[in-house]
Amino acid sequence: MNLTVIDHPLSRHYLTVLRDRTTEPEEFRAAARRLAYGLIMEATERTPMVETQIETPLEPTRGYRMTDVVAIAVLRAGLGLLDAVVDLLPQVTMGFAGVQRDEETAEPMEYYFKAADLSNTHVLVLEPMLATGGSLSWAVQKAKDSGAEHITCLCVVAAPEGVKRMYEDHPDVRIVAAALDRDLNENYYIRPGLGDMGDRLFGTL
Ligand code: URA
Repeated sequence: MNLTVIDHPLSRHYLTVLRDRTTEPEEFRAAARRLAYGLIMEATERTPMVETQIETPLEPTRGYRMTDVVAIAVLRAGLGLLDAVVDLLPQVTMGFAGVQRDEETAEPMEYYFKAADLSNTHVLVLEPMLATGGSLSWAVQKAKDSGAEHITCLCVVAAPEGVKRMYEDHPDVRIVAAALDRDLNENYYIRPGLGDMGDRLFGTL
């Protein structure tokens, strides 16, 4: 399948902090960032490395560097994972995908997309809540239109509906998530989920 669910005690710990309705935005942002480290480690597992020759204080040796990674944050919630990407991959190039969902149909309405040429890069698309899959599928298509061939999506919580839609639209794209939840409610929110990720990150409840 196209989905990998990370199952580590620390990811379960931070996911619980995120799910808890009493968690305030400051703690919520910190937990999202900390959980993102685990998602990034898993998502970059197959990223090609550039071999390099270096010298330790004792002798020459071979080393490896990770280059050519691009992160595309789906606005707004994807911003909650971006700090962790920049921390682990300081040379990362960033792109932004602005999409708002139509509250009645849940279909994506694009309002912004900006990314460099994505040919010969490994793209990480940051979309914490994979609900219907409409926004993520759109963002991935935009990345492909910009030349991307190697794409991994980072999600905090995925719903089966979104995973299915992504598999139908983009079977070549891998999804790494911290949880596969039960279903969507009538307003297309993930259950049990964690509520509106953007609102909880930015305190706009
Ligand atoms: N977006 C969110 O922020 N939460 C959901 O549950 C679904 C989409």
